[in-house]
Amino acid sequence: MGMFDTIHFEQPLTCAVCQAPIATTQTKAFECLLDDFRIGDCVGHAEELRIVREGLYCDACRAIDQQFVYFVVYRGILVDVALDLPAAEAQLRSFSFERLLLWYHDQYAKRVAERRERWQVERFLHDVVRWYEAGYDQMTPEERDQKPMLALLFFHYRDLLETATDPVAALRAYLAARKNEGEAD
Ligand SMILES: [Zn+2]
Repeated sequence: MGMFDTIHFEQPLTCAVCQAPIATTQTKAFECLLDDFRIGDCVGHAEELRIVREGLYCDACRAIDQQFVYFVVYRGILVDVALDLPAAEAQLRSFSFERLLLWYHDQYAKRVAERRERWQVERFLHDVVRWYEAGYDQMTPEERDQKPMLALLFFHYRDLLETATDPVAALRAYLAARKNEGEAD
């Protein structure tokens, strides 16, 4: 399968051929699930210590493999994207236990945030089902106002559901709102 993951650099690199910025590279060295990784992300198992050499591709001039980066994976975490092998090896050699603990703290915070996000998505899906199955979309605003429970039941997404004519429109509005939030971040 032609699957890969995308590694996002902390700072864009410069194409050696045309000097255009290169912000990311694709790799098949990790799980190949079309995932996005940045420095500090968990890319593998805790026993993994390795350096992965990857060629860069420039979108601007289409130069391929004219320059390389080295992913430094320490205990399963992508700890650096080095520009040459000695720098990558030095990173592996000098990596400290204290620094690893900090990365794990970050991993935990990410896990909490992702769980919260998943709950939000599930809550929205439940709300969509409940809203349309109960026929709230067929009611006039006045009829809805006579049901005080609605404010409680649909505390998070009532405005969105009231303006959506059908479930597909609700999903579309929800996705658009998420996209806006993502871009605002
Ligand atoms: Zn280029």
